[in-house]
Amino acid sequence: MSENIRIVLVNTSHPGNIGGAARAMKNMGLSHLYLVEPEDFPNGNAKARASGADDILENARVVKTLDEALQGCSLVMGTSARDRRIPLSLLDPRESANKVLEHFDAGVEGDVALVFGREHSGLTNEELQRCKFHIHIPSNPEFSSLNLAAAVQVLVYELRMAQLARAEAPLKQRKFEASSMLNEQPASADEMERYFEHLEQVLIEVGFHDPQKPRHLMARLRRLYGRAEVNKLEMNILRGILTETQRSLRGEPGKRGGSDV
Ligand code: SAH
Repeated sequence: MSENIRIVLVNTSHPGNIGGAARAMKNMGLSHLYLVEPEDFPNGNAKARASGADDILENARVVKTLDEALQGCSLVMGTSARDRRIPLSLLDPRESANKVLEHFDAGVEGDVALVFGREHSGLTNEELQRCKFHIHIPSNPEFSSLNLAAAVQVLVYELRMAQLARAEAPLKQRKFEASSMLNEQPASADEMERYFEHLEQVLIEVGFHDPQKPRHLMARLRRLYGRAEVNKLEMNILRGILTETQRSLRGEPGKRGGSDV
């Protein structure tokens, strides 16, 4: 998928930003950089800011028009610092990353391009109209314009996160299958209910909990255990502790050796 994503920088004036964008791309696993009429490229500042992402700069395609950069693209998204009232769907970077995944999922041929504008004036309305979606990083409206390379960083980071989330989903499923041993499965709602009843009982018996003055204790404990995602093995331990506490309160000899789990 990364192989089919292009980062297109239009008419960049500061070569350092080209280097910064290249670095951000390589960090996030992207490699296809298109430069539409850069003012000053190649340039030592670009190389310096790329900090080792030289291959991205060396392979960057320098073209004369946006059209050339977009040849072979089936989805084009443009970025803008200003929330321009143009009739395009406005997305934030996270939504745009999901759109990119959806696009590839649908099996559409061709590349996806993310287009970035000039440092001083951004993309023209005409250029933005070449884009199906318009991406705005929801920055401070009083100070909305990010540095160009920083804007590239935000977008490519979101793309990477979306890809990782996607790659992880089946992994989680696999983990669940591998852990299908009974003990590793989450305690059922029913088991949790029985535990809470048992816990409340013991807390009353030891004098910690007064049902006349409950102080939301049980609700708070439910929230705490809810966060812990208790599995069946852990549930056995918790129930064992309660049972032994009750036995001890009644002066019965303890099992010693603790739990048998
Ligand atoms: N004065 C210009 C600022 C351009 S900043 C303008 O108002 O458009 C240079 C480029 O960085 C932009 O064209 C865009 O590609 C990107 N960028 C900067 N801030 C952004 C933001 N908040 N959302 C989306 N892209 C942004």
